[in-house]
Amino acid sequence: MAVDIPQRPTLFIDGEWTSTLSGKTRPTINPYDAQVLTEVDEAGPEEAERAIASARKFFDTSDWSRQSCKQRCALLSRYADLLQEHKPKLAQIETLDTGKTLKESEIDIDDVTNVFRFYAMEACKLDHDKQVTGELIPETVRSTVVHEPVGVCVLITPWNYPILQLCWKLAPALATGNVVIVKPSEVTPLSTIYLVKLLLEAGFPPKSVQLLTASGASVGPTLTESKDVDLVSFTGGLSTGRRIIRSCAETIKRCTVELGGKNPNVVFADCDLDLAVDNVLTAVFTHSGQVCSSGARLIVEDSIADRLVAGVVERAKQIRMGSGLDPESETGPLVSAEHLAKVEGYVKLAREEGGKVLCGGCRPDAKEHPELAKGYFFLPTVVDRCNRSMRIVQEETFGPILTVERFKDGDEDEAVRLANDTQYGLAGGVQSKDTTRAERVARRLRHGTVWVNTYGAYTPQAEWGGFGMSGNGRELGSKGLDEYVETKHIWNETQPALMGWFKGAARM
Ligand code: NDP
Repeated sequence: MAVDIPQRPTLFIDGEWTSTLSGKTRPTINPYDAQVLTEVDEAGPEEAERAIASARKFFDTSDWSRQSCKQRCALLSRYADLLQEHKPKLAQIETLDTGKTLKESEIDIDDVTNVFRFYAMEACKLDHDKQVTGELIPETVRSTVVHEPVGVCVLITPWNYPILQLCWKLAPALATGNVVIVKPSEVTPLSTIYLVKLLLEAGFPPKSVQLLTASGASVGPTLTESKDVDLVSFTGGLSTGRRIIRSCAETIKRCTVELGGKNPNVVFADCDLDLAVDNVLTAVFTHSGQVCSSGARLIVEDSIADRLVAGVVERAKQIRMGSGLDPESETGPLVSAEHLAKVEGYVKLAREEGGKVLCGGCRPDAKEHPELAKGYFFLPTVVDRCNRSMRIVQEETFGPILTVERFKDGDEDEAVRLANDTQYGLAGGVQSKDTTRAERVARRLRHGTVWVNTYGAYTPQAEWGGFGMSGNGRELGSKGLDEYVETKHIWNETQPALMGWFKGAARM
């Protein structure tokens, strides 16, 4: 099958595909072999202003936001069908752009198909106003809570899960009648362009979506500072998230941020060892560790630590790296040369901090694996003898690096203390055959998602988000819908009378 890589023009503004006036473009690189896949248009502040003006006008003057959720949700269902129809092409594009395996891209598309189907049902609940009744409401009053879209929403996404992260935002935003301006990562814009084309094919009004392929540094401030934007939903790194929150503060706009994580995977001595080894590997090495919820901190009970770590190292050495399009590949490269350099820097730091690198720690040997030499590959890495004061334990490397910390036998409190000793709080795992203890520990972890005896699964029905510096707000679930909804209370006095608050008040 020929790969249908989206071609310029790649900006979608005011209902039309367009390029920049300056003609500025940016190459998109395949991380497998560092070859240019295509060029995309590179929008600047001027195009961002145009997109905002169009989105504002459409929201304020069209009947899109006044349609019933049921009407809009028919479009969501149609979109879910289209995602499945286009899955083979879309998955190839995602794999070429991000480096992840085709299997992972296909899973992402299946997952977001379910997200669209879920919100197609969930949003319909908002068509029913809530009548407030009871002894606190006078009998003459009709008290009604109604739901409305927030308005113009800017959706900013990262490079590691371009399809998935965008659809988590798109589905609830469009289901509730908002208008969206989409800004994918400059590193991986291709699947987003394809997704916008599918929105149009599904029948969403052209001006309900605007797309800016652009650098965040260039268009970000225009989008987040604008008084005509009502909401920013951002997924990305901590420092960008901070900048965006500050920038939204000026106009008090609604702002949700899903940020990074440094996620603990706590393994107790009574675990099923084979299962635990498998879970530890899956948690940290999937997508070469470029996962916000990656289980990058192994926190293991002393008495099984050596055996568990030996098992993880043995299996890590066997992970097959290669092109995401090759069905034999188990994991692909890192996303870019810059990111590879960052990950290499973290291993150097780990060594300086006293960590012992048990496997990996470098790029694959070019003589042994010439096919990997051009790409941004980095070997699965295990660093032992780590402690919580080390930066390699506290900072998100976003690479295939597992750090190992041990806790005293039987000391559940210490395990919990270690697991919670992070500025982040996105996700974590607990591996133990004692399900009562595992559930107890899961409840004590200050992290937004906790997996017991597995790692990484999610469902559109349950909320996703972080404690601490992993972000605010929630995606998915009913709270993920609430982020895009304004709630209004209408107090309707059906038998009006003088209120008599001021003495002079009387009928004229
Ligand atoms: P970045 O924070 O660098 O970028 C994220 C997005 O923000 C990109 O589209 C980027 O554009 C844009 N951006 C950059 N600067 C600005 C700005 N000043 N104003 C507005 N937008 C801006 O993150 P990465 O792309 O490097 O993604 C990796 C991070 O994302 C990791 O920390 C990871 O943990 C986190 N993440 C969190 C998830 C969660 O659910 N909590 C899920 C997935 C990832 P550009 O690319 O052009 O710079």
